[in-house]
Amino acid sequence: MGKNHLKKNVVFFTEELKKKAGQGREIIAIFPKAVKNHEFHPFFQAKVDMKTGKLVGFEALCRWIHEGKFIYPDQFIPVLDKEGLIHELDMAIFDETCRAIRSWIDMGLNPPRVSSNFSRKNLFVPDIEEKICRKITENGISNENVEIEITETVKESEYNRLIEFVRNLKENGMHISIDDFGTGYSSLSLIHNIDADVVKIDKSFVDEIPGNHKSEVLIESIINIAERLDMTVIAEGVETLEQGQELMRLGCRNAQGYFYSKPVDYETATELIRNPSFEAIREL
Ligand code: C2E
Ligand code: CA
Ligand code: CA
Repeated sequence: MGKNHLKKNVVFFTEELKKKAGQGREIIAIFPKAVKNHEFHPFFQAKVDMKTGKLVGFEALCRWIHEGKFIYPDQFIPVLDKEGLIHELDMAIFDETCRAIRSWIDMGLNPPRVSSNFSRKNLFVPDIEEKICRKITENGISNENVEIEITETVKESEYNRLIEFVRNLKENGMHISIDDFGTGYSSLSLIHNIDADVVKIDKSFVDEIPGNHKSEVLIESIINIAERLDMTVIAEGVETLEQGQELMRLGCRNAQGYFYSKPVDYETATELIRNPSFEAIREL
């Protein structure tokens, strides 16, 4: 555990560690059946244009409903990622997301674009780009309806493959966003080398504003660079009106966070598409 997981030479054994290891084993054991039983579902979090209050997108976030109880991603995503099972989960969530979009279209609604998270482990799944594109056609929707979110990488081996992955998807007309932007070590070189559509400013920067001069400068710089490179910017983890106002002052239009909405289930998302009622933020 010290070597592989925590990357430390010395690890002190605690009951907490034992519990964690046990939970990990249990998740791995019940995962295949849970997928088969359709226990994983996307919840949808609104992306809002702060200036108009318009709903401009959703992010699909995975929830595991097991024996009537909710399990949140931080409890199982790291384990599935480490064990090489995350691809299966990502595809299941993406599939259900595509189906939700199809059903909204069938209801005569006009759903906004929905983004789905793909772990970087997917980069090494054979023909992953084709698999993603096929899911879209299979479900009778279009590239315009979806967006792929992927995080930055620090590993050299992943870096080139990530650039290739994005290029291949872009050639197929897909929309791509770089998640958690600014938290990696290679953000600047990545934004330069990658042809993404959207940059998602990480919550850790949003948490620090207003008031933290360095975070404000950093956010403003990200926005400037992204705009010069024809990318859109969205800030995540916006919880307060003050954060929204500050982001707008720094030049950011789009936001996602509890200030607007938590991730909600399919029925509630349907209602949000029908009657979006988000507050427009007045610029100071
Ligand atoms: P993420 O992609 O950075 O997603 C944003 C997380 O921040 C979500 O947590 C969301 O519920 C939460 N969040 C959004 N707005 C706010 C806010 O205003 N305040 C606070 N405190 N939190 C906010 P969630 O749903 O627990 O997901 C956690 C992480 O798990 C995600 O981070 C993502 O990395 C991963 N994840 C979720 N679903 C999937 C999936 O289907 N596939 C993969 N590979 N990863 C997923
Ligand atoms: Ca995300
Ligand atoms: Ca994120």
